[in-house]
Amino acid sequence: MLALALKKAFPGFRLEVALEVQEGEVLALLGPSGSGKSTLLKLVAGLLAPEEGYVCFAEADLTPLPPERRKVGFLFQDYALFPHLSVADNIAFGLLEARWPKAAREERVRELLERMELTPHARKRPTELSGGEQQRVALARALANRPRLLLLDEPLGALDLRLREELLLFLRKTLKEERVTTLLVTHDQGEAFLLAQRVALMREGRIVQVGRPEEVYARPIDPWAARFLGHKN
Ligand code: ADP
Ligand code: MG
Repeated sequence: MLALALKKAFPGFRLEVALEVQEGEVLALLGPSGSGKSTLLKLVAGLLAPEEGYVCFAEADLTPLPPERRKVGFLFQDYALFPHLSVADNIAFGLLEARWPKAAREERVRELLERMELTPHARKRPTELSGGEQQRVALARALANRPRLLLLDEPLGALDLRLREELLLFLRKTLKEERVTTLLVTHDQGEAFLLAQRVALMREGRIVQVGRPEEVYARPIDPWAARFLGHKN
């Protein structure tokens, strides 16, 4: 289980969140822009330090660990591929850093290339690929090191509708196959329904409602949540 309680403040903004996520569960974080979704993911990844609190996974305290020792895979909107490396080397990057033996590294890269249908592109540079293909490389890179936790910040956000649908199917298959505990930030209700077992609704740095997607959408906790989720009244 992932268990966290975190506090973080920026000028004009306070985040205070406590949350438990089951192993292998996908939890979608929904909320308006500025509600603290990315900040929460960065705290979990260790890219930001909390003022107070902890992040535990499977009873191990990750709080004092730097990002590279948390076994967390992340795919952030502003986290680009390495332009000078081939697709295969982008995917292998974290494995080199973690000193996987060459044979195991090559096997894992081959497996991910195949799963993401990127095998024909292995030797290309990222700029030679379409947006959807690039995003699949980023997903493969995030998963390469067999993270116990996967953090996805609007992974489909920058793509057009057709590519979103295509990548959504990849994501669903991949999350199932890898059985990795996942926090997924999304704006898209369809995405939350298809991918997540539960959704958490964030407002002004706090989680105001958590539940199964169909429960949350059917019974928003207050008028604000109803409005945010697109109810008419
Ligand atoms: P979301 O991802 O839900 O859109 P963010 O987590 O990016 O929201 O931001 C939450 C709030 O924290 C915003 O008001 C944002 O301006 C502020 N914020 C985020 N990162 C920083 C930072 N590094 N320094 C100062 N303020 C920040
Ligand atoms: Mg954000």
